[in-house]
Amino acid sequence: MDLKTKLRQEAQEAGLTRIGFAGIQPFTREEEILTRRLQEGQITLSAAGDILLRTHPEKILPGAKSIVCVGACYRLPDEIPQDNRLARYAQVTDYHKVLFSTLQRLADLIQSRMPEAKHWINVDTGPLLERAAAQRAGLGFVGKNCSLIDPERGSYWVLGALITTAPIPPDENIHFDYGSGCGDCSACLKACPTGALEAPGVVRVERCLSYITQKRGWIDSVYRRYIREDLWGCDRCQSVCPYNAAVKGCAPSMWNPSRDCVMLPEIEVILEWDASGYRKAMENTALFWRGRTVLQRNALLVLGNRKNPEDGVKMAAMLSDSRPVIRGHAAWALGQNPHPDAARWLKAVKEYESDRQVRLEIQRALTSLEREDLNG
Ligand code: SF4
Ligand code: SF4
Repeated sequence: MDLKTKLRQEAQEAGLTRIGFAGIQPFTREEEILTRRLQEGQITLSAAGDILLRTHPEKILPGAKSIVCVGACYRLPDEIPQDNRLARYAQVTDYHKVLFSTLQRLADLIQSRMPEAKHWINVDTGPLLERAAAQRAGLGFVGKNCSLIDPERGSYWVLGALITTAPIPPDENIHFDYGSGCGDCSACLKACPTGALEAPGVVRVERCLSYITQKRGWIDSVYRRYIREDLWGCDRCQSVCPYNAAVKGCAPSMWNPSRDCVMLPEIEVILEWDASGYRKAMENTALFWRGRTVLQRNALLVLGNRKNPEDGVKMAAMLSDSRPVIRGHAAWALGQNPHPDAARWLKAVKEYESDRQVRLEIQRALTSLEREDLNG
């Protein structure tokens, strides 16, 4: 059996949804776009990264000859209970580990045929532009929502790539180019609540809730209400996509639903986690690496947005947390809450709060409650 056929077979056995093969020529279109956006100040230096490295695969792995691109669908069938407070990719156990070990299997297979072959595995955090590579390998087209869309399977899948010095004939991509399957549709642009999709295929990362809910530190007050009651991520520009409407779930999958579904406990429990409780509950999830504070901060925003007076006491308790970012977001949440003691609790902690940003949050929360009072 030739190497390509064997790799396809191995990928299928490992539960990957798609596999394709691309050449390593530079991604010149992406290089131009990234350079222009950087020059025009639309992206920061850290978001742009090393543009030359990201767009020239042979700089990532000298002597590279091919890219093996893989995709794994994470949309579990609807009948399986899922935690809808999380973006779909986080509803299954950490894809980084699963995808990395599967790509390692493919690398081992190549090496068993070509012992001198060298590899670079790229899963999410590596320099390679995985979506551009996957499109080149014929796995789908990059839509106006910036997701890779397989017309038959939608866009709920994670991508990984293996750059290799082994020469593997590329697949012929005759179907797909940027936005080629979108036509007149603009549902994703209309659905984006923050205007992060500012033009077809252009996302302003700093306005994107997917990024905002994962980053560490303070969340700009402008975006807090858009998070609604979602604990993690945002799928709105994907959930409205007609290509996803037709997909009811993928199988076979790398994830075993009975073992790999992530179900988080109620907010109350999340807020009570200490470091070891967090580790125990979250270790195998894609959220884990961001840390406890990020999830607890988001949990406070959920409480703020649900405006249930019964949550008042829980938020007040978080005002004396040791972490300023938690105290500050608890203050904001309390400022949204109709509990009759909310203002009294905020005034009490304001007296001894030493952190400048938290004091500011408390003052804003008090102003917000006064406004509510005035409006009846
Ligand atoms: Fe907008 Fe959410 Fe899509 Fe980000 S993930 S572009 S915030 S709809
Ligand atoms: Fe393209 Fe419409 Fe899907 Fe957006 S919602 S990616 S425009 S098909």
